Amino acid sequence: MKCTFLIYRFDPAADRDPHYEEYTTEAESTDKILDCLNKIRWEQDPALSYRYSCAHGICGSDALMINGRIELACQKLVRDFKTANNFVIEPLPLFKVIKDLVVDLDPFFEKHRSVQPYLINDKKPPEKERPQNAENQETIEPALRCILCASCTSACPINRANDDYLGPAALLRAFRYIFDSRDTATQSRLAQIDNKDGIWGCRTMWWCTEVCPKEIPVTKCLGQVKRLVKEEGKA
Ligand code: SF4
Repeated sequence: MKCTFLIYRFDPAADRDPHYEEYTTEAESTDKILDCLNKIRWEQDPALSYRYSCAHGICGSDALMINGRIELACQKLVRDFKTANNFVIEPLPLFKVIKDLVVDLDPFFEKHRSVQPYLINDKKPPEKERPQNAENQETIEPALRCILCASCTSACPINRANDDYLGPAALLRAFRYIFDSRDTATQSRLAQIDNKDGIWGCRTMWWCTEVCPKEIPVTKCLGQVKRLVKEEGKA
């Protein structure tokens, strides 16, 4: 079938303003949107820029706006859209465009790094591994599915209004270590995010949960963090 793609184009080094270009390509209903972008680039326009790596929903690098909704281009098929084979492809909102569909994710990863996204344990290392029970593993399991695609942070209205807000992805990573029984930095982690740019920036708007391609209950996890911050405050 013939599919039409209206694609956002912008090269800040050469263009004054962004514009949209239209491409028509043949596609199967089972093709991924990423397959279509590849076909357009390989057969029609080698200058079209976008990111992807694994193409199987693992690396999280091809998050885009597809017909006004944030999606992974490798996880969505042509048949998933009821738009008469017409597609509008745009870069992730919130972030600065580097070129076409490629955005600058440095601020996103800086925030991620700021929550110390690694296990901290000041006890003497055991002879073997640090054990974790099944119940604790179940608590943090949703957060382990995060592929850092930035979709949630990009969708979050609070992030759009406040540059300093850590955002759902970084806070979810904080959740992952705060609730990990093997981590001993819980108090300092809670103290770091106990402010309006941290966990209290979240207004429970659920957009993060809505767009997450890994179906992580992000808002619910952040709610657990809020409860813990309050409990620890009382204690
Ligand atoms: S929580 Fe979901 S949407 Fe947010 S970065 Fe992780 S995988 Fe992407």
